[in-house]
Amino acid sequence: MLQASSRSSRHRFLLVAFASLVLGCATVKPPAATALLPTQHQTRTGPYCVFTNAAMPPDAPAIRSLQSLERQLEATLGIRVPPGTEPIEVYILESPEAFRHFLMFYFPELPTRRAFFLAQGTRRVVYTYQGGRLEEDLRHEATHALLHAAAPELPLWLDEGLAEYFEGDEARDGLNAEHLAHLPDDFESGFIPDLKRLESLRDVRKMTPRDYRESWAWVHYLLNGPASGKAALLSFLADQRGEGDPSPLSRRLIVTDSDPAIRLISHVEHTREASLAAARALREREPTVRFQDRAEDVAPVPPQGKRRSFFGRITGLFGM
Ligand SMILES: [Zn+2]
Repeated sequence: MLQASSRSSRHRFLLVAFASLVLGCATVKPPAATALLPTQHQTRTGPYCVFTNAAMPPDAPAIRSLQSLERQLEATLGIRVPPGTEPIEVYILESPEAFRHFLMFYFPELPTRRAFFLAQGTRRVVYTYQGGRLEEDLRHEATHALLHAAAPELPLWLDEGLAEYFEGDEARDGLNAEHLAHLPDDFESGFIPDLKRLESLRDVRKMTPRDYRESWAWVHYLLNGPASGKAALLSFLADQRGEGDPSPLSRRLIVTDSDPAIRLISHVEHTREASLAAARALREREPTVRFQDRAEDVAPVPPQGKRRSFFGRITGLFGM
């Protein structure tokens, strides 16, 4: 089965089994050998092999962001790619135009996007391009790839929620400012989080932006709320990797928390207030910029076309 996940602005898609639509069926191969993909330089690091046309230094931000994601996933979730796993192929095209051209040729069915992840059998591939959000896009799609290598059957909401959580750099610690800004409006309009409903989603194309926000919020709550939440998530992930307890997270949470939705709402509010307070404190610590309160004695600017010569400006400077 081929799985692909992708993102367009803030919209991502997980396409399941579209191999027969796009590329054929059992013999399908991701188009890694095409001239439309960068192949001139390869950077092998950790579980990744990064392909680019321009040489990429080992300490390039893109490489560092992938490395730190691997460390963060292991430290937070205990997830690491099993030894002997084929490297995750990461193709970074040189421009949005090159990426669009590649997509039009190989994946004409897919809407416009900035990046996507595609898995087929043991092969995991991330496609994206050089742009202002390269690191964020890489981290989002590489999270899917790393999770897929360790636990290929994760529920859709959790797969996306974790990718949204880890897409920001390590310093952000899972905070997603965009989601944090919108969720209070969702709650204000009467929306009540419902993990069971999220668990019933099977088609990424039916996931709304609010579903992504809710998925992120559950992940953030589980990892940063009461310790029992993180314990439930970690045991769920462990069971997903083996043949453990198949019961969903919503049922596990109810054991220690009779109303997790209410706790999630107050967690989001608390997180938002804390991040606003942190931003205010940061602003206050910034050195005060002082402006001169006396006007400078500036010689009148000569009218355009009559700019003073170099020597004229020097004489003016010395009051001559
Ligand atoms: Zn995604």
